[in-house]
Amino acid sequence: MPSHTLYLPEMLYADGRVHTGLGLLVSPTGVVEGLAAKESAPPGTELTLLSGKALLPGLANAHSHTFQRLFRGRAEGRAAGGDTFWTWREQMYRAAAFVSPEDLYEVARATFFEMICAGITAVGEFHYLHRDPEGRAYSEPNLLGEQVIAAARSVGLRIRLLRSAYFRAGFERPPHLGQQRFYESPDEYLRNLEDLVAKHRATENVTVGAAPHSIRAVPLDELRKIAEIARGRMPLHMHISEQVGENAACEAEYGATPVRLLADHGILSAGTTLVHAIHLTAAEYKAVAAAGTTICSCPTTERNLGDGIFPADSAARLGIPVVFGTDSQAQIDILEDARQMEYHLRLRDQQRGILDASAREDWASREPIGGSLFRSATASGYSALGLDGGTLAVGQPADFFTVDLNDLSVLGTDAESLLSQAVFALAKSAIRDVAVQGRLILEDGRHTHEDEIRSRYVAVQRRYQNTFAPGEIQ
Ligand SMILES: [Zn+2]
Repeated sequence: MPSHTLYLPEMLYADGRVHTGLGLLVSPTGVVEGLAAKESAPPGTELTLLSGKALLPGLANAHSHTFQRLFRGRAEGRAAGGDTFWTWREQMYRAAAFVSPEDLYEVARATFFEMICAGITAVGEFHYLHRDPEGRAYSEPNLLGEQVIAAARSVGLRIRLLRSAYFRAGFERPPHLGQQRFYESPDEYLRNLEDLVAKHRATENVTVGAAPHSIRAVPLDELRKIAEIARGRMPLHMHISEQVGENAACEAEYGATPVRLLADHGILSAGTTLVHAIHLTAAEYKAVAAAGTTICSCPTTERNLGDGIFPADSAARLGIPVVFGTDSQAQIDILEDARQMEYHLRLRDQQRGILDASAREDWASREPIGGSLFRSATASGYSALGLDGGTLAVGQPADFFTVDLNDLSVLGTDAESLLSQAVFALAKSAIRDVAVQGRLILEDGRHTHEDEIRSRYVAVQRRYQNTFAPGEIQ
C-alpha cells in the first residue's frame, strides 16, 4: 500500500522561512501535507533522511527552446561585419533545419536532464518547430511537440508545452527559408493547438499553452484570436521587445510599439507572460503592471546575445511579477539568471542592492532581495506557467530540490543566510536530489537513465558537427 513520505533535511525552506528539525510530509499522490517532526509523522510513513542537505521548492524555467542546446558554444565568434542577435539567428536556423524527430527527442531529453540537475522541476517549452525540413506538415502535425513532451516525461520533468504560432517572417517580408519548419496557417495552428490540448488533458505533469511567437511573426488580427481562445483556459506567452529593431518594425506596421499595441487591443492580461520586454517605455511598463501581466527575463541568454539590460527595477517598482527562463540554453542555471538580473543593474548604476525592495519606500513591495529573487525563480515562475507549485505549502505538489550544505559554494551557510547564499552563490554541483510530484527523479546526483541520455546526445552532437564542417559555424 502506498505510504506517506517524510523528507527530513537539515534545513527546509517553506512558508517564507527556513525551518530546522522539521521534515516535508508528502502524501502518496505527491502532494505536500505539511511540515512534521520525525516523531509526529503518521504511522507507516516512509522516512527519507537528507542529512547535511537543505530542501527548497523546485525552480521554474518559464522560457526554453530545447533544440537550441545543440549549438551551445558554436556561435560565439564574431561574424564578418559584426555579430548581433540577427546573425546568431542564422545559426539557430541551421540547428532547426538539422534535427530529425528522433534527434529532437534526444536533444530535448539531454537538455531537460541538465535542467533537472540544475534544480528545475517545471519547464515552459516555447515550441515552434512543427514541420519537416522541407516545410511540409508531418502526417501527425504535432509530432515534434509530442517528441518534446515525451522527452520531458522520460526524465520526469513537469512541462507546459507552449505551442508557438509562427505565420510570417515579418511585416512586408517574404517567407524566410530558415523558418519553413515554423510556419503554419492560422487555421492549422488553432486546430493543432486544440488537438494537443485534448490529447494531454489527463497526462500526468503535462499541460499545453498558447505562444504567438512575436508581433513580427503573428499579425495583430491573428494575435487577438489566439488571445481570445487562451483567455481563462491556458497561459499565453510571447516574445516582445527583445531587440530595438522589433519595436521599429512594429511602429512601421501599426504606428505603435509592441506592448502599447497589445495593451490597446486587450491582449495583456494576468494570464499573459511577455518574454524579454527589455526595450519598453515607462508608459508600457505601467500598462503591463495595470494588466497584471508577467515578464519573463532571460539574463544569461540576453547577455549572450547582446540584447540589452532589462530594467528590472522599473518592473519591481510597479509590482510586475518577474520570472526567469533559460531561453537559448547558453547556460542552464535559473539562479544565475536571478543574480545576473540584479548584477546587470549594479553595473549600469555603479551601485549595489538595486532590487532590494526592503530599502525602497515607493515600491509596490518591501520584500528583501534574496526572498524576492527566489520567489521569481520559483512561485512566480510556476504561476506564469499556470501551474500549482513553486512553494511547499499544504496542498501544493511536492516539487523540490536539495542542496548539499558541504558543497564549497555554500559551505558554512546557516538558516539565516541560506536563501541569500542560494540566490547569490550556489553552484549547480551542490544540487543533489530533485523531486517532481513527490517522486525523486534525481537521487544524490544520479538519474536512472543518465548514461543512456548522455551517450545518445553525444551521438547527435557528433553528427551535427560532421554535417557542418569546422569553420563553417562561427
Ligand atoms: Zn525565446
